[in-house]
Amino acid sequence: MPRIYYLFLGLLSTLVSTISCQNDTYQFNQGFIFGTEYHIQYKFDHDIQAEIQSALDEVNHSLSTYDSTSVVSLINKNISVELDTHFVVVFKRSQEISAETKGMFDISVGPLVNAWGFGFKGKQFPDSVQILNLLPRIGYQKIKIVDGKIIKDRPDIEIDPSSAAEGYGVDVVANLLEKKGIENYLVEIGGEIRSKGINSKGKKWTVGIDKPIEGEYNATGEIQEIVSIDSGAISTSGNYRKFYYRDGKKYAHVINPHTGYPSEHQILSVTVYADDCMSADAYSTVFMVMGLESTQMFLKSHPELSAYIISSKDTNSYSIWMSDSFKELVSKP
Ligand code: ADP
Ligand code: MG
Repeated sequence: MPRIYYLFLGLLSTLVSTISCQNDTYQFNQGFIFGTEYHIQYKFDHDIQAEIQSALDEVNHSLSTYDSTSVVSLINKNISVELDTHFVVVFKRSQEISAETKGMFDISVGPLVNAWGFGFKGKQFPDSVQILNLLPRIGYQKIKIVDGKIIKDRPDIEIDPSSAAEGYGVDVVANLLEKKGIENYLVEIGGEIRSKGINSKGKKWTVGIDKPIEGEYNATGEIQEIVSIDSGAISTSGNYRKFYYRDGKKYAHVINPHTGYPSEHQILSVTVYADDCMSADAYSTVFMVMGLESTQMFLKSHPELSAYIISSKDTNSYSIWMSDSFKELVSKP
């Protein structure tokens, strides 16, 4: 799970002063969804967490591979199911990003993710024959929506939308808030973030990008960079949390769908800023697969995206590259 921590130091004292001078105050909601935590702040006259939670539960019941009765799980089991809006939106956007990245982003990569032990079916280390046997089941062009139904080239093709689903969940909450006329908010699910307007201190929202420290948790919460955003989405994908070593080699949790092997770049983390969080989430994942140079090329023709990439130089040091547009977001002291 990418970890971007937003900073809300001083929130409590600001809350108190805000309550006393106006009706709308900053609501703070915290809960669980998609196997992770969410934190949401929004300026409104009352708390709407119940509505937020039920919107997120609906997304989960569409896109979670951990829910055996979700739309995506039924598709994976070839059980006939009516496609809902959540599935269709994420599927279509994923297919667009697959086409743009020449198949490096691919939601049919699930069987490989499982084989490598990063998915939802337990851990086993695959050999090269196993990988070769799995490749015919991979390929985004092998799945289509025709007349409102999913059509697969082979029944053993599976869909794994997890690299964009969290970001999509953030967008669903942001849209819900906007529909209510809320203009100041920050939505964060498992480190995927989207914000608008200002925080309770009347300033732009600030988001910290983790230092790429290996391990499940950044226990010390060390921050590499602080970025300021008013409206937009930000997502980090990192290979410094989900990986394992074998024979001195590091295997990360993003897979190159063409080779069937985990990506082997020097990249430790990619942070992407985009208008919507599903896109930020998907691009941060695929840039990990593509590597630094291909990503730099790609960004030249995608001015709507900004990126911040941390790469390892050797075992003890790392280097940072950011697009010119990302420089605008980095907080000046
Ligand atoms: P996390 O939030 O867990 O860090 P990401 O958003 O970076 O995750 O997505 C990683 C997940 O994406 C993997 O666990 C896997 O399910 C899926 N995945 C791996 N490789 C690819 C790929 N090439 N294209 C699309 N999804 C992928
Ligand atoms: Mg992602």
